[in-house]
Amino acid sequence: MVIGLTGGIGSGKSAASAWFAEQGIDVIDADVIAHAVVAKGSPTLLKIQEKLGDWVLLPSGEMDRAAVRAHVFNHPAALMALEAITHPAIREMAKRQLANSRSPYSILVAPLLIEAAEAGLANLCQRILVIDATEDTQLVRASGRDDQSMAKIKAIMANQLPRAARNEHADDVVCNDATLAELHAQLAPLHQYYLSLAGADD
Ligand code: ATP
Repeated sequence: MVIGLTGGIGSGKSAASAWFAEQGIDVIDADVIAHAVVAKGSPTLLKIQEKLGDWVLLPSGEMDRAAVRAHVFNHPAALMALEAITHPAIREMAKRQLANSRSPYSILVAPLLIEAAEAGLANLCQRILVIDATEDTQLVRASGRDDQSMAKIKAIMANQLPRAARNEHADDVVCNDATLAELHAQLAPLHQYYLSLAGADD
């Protein structure tokens, strides 16, 4: 059984994932996979080079992420072409990692699990767990974690679903506006519930 875990920027996805991992649950991270599929020399990176041009590569052979990001920001067709290459590769690697998981259930963390429906990650999941926090909390925590400007965080939030819309897609919602202890206290019964769904609670 796969639980999809999502939430807006700074909502606490990593904090929740870390707690599940401490309980022995395998956590598969779509962001990590998204980086891995375009690793230097990978078939996916080669396809991107063929589609967009040699400029996508740095002299080291690695993808020039900043250049690709800037290009697709201004060229919607290039973004579609890029995603048509990367999304199936990400889904395949996620599927492979989930198939290798040996914990009673697994967690698939993806920031855009709901937004990027065409990527097909949500349909690998039997349930969706949303980590929810107010926009103020998101701003404070995301800016406190790394040096991203408020403007940049707000721009990312504008590209993500508003809270209410995201929560509508959830089977389970956890509120992470208080302490980590309170987050964990909400995750514990969910973990028991997921174990019972997976038939692993006896
Ligand atoms: P992103 O989408 O940007 O990767 P995220 O949803 O994974 O973010 P986290 O990295 O888990 O969010 O949390 C953002 C920051 O807030 C981190 O520094 C984390 O330690 C902190 N944090 C998360 N939950 C709490 C909490 N309940 N109390 C205090 N700090 C928290």
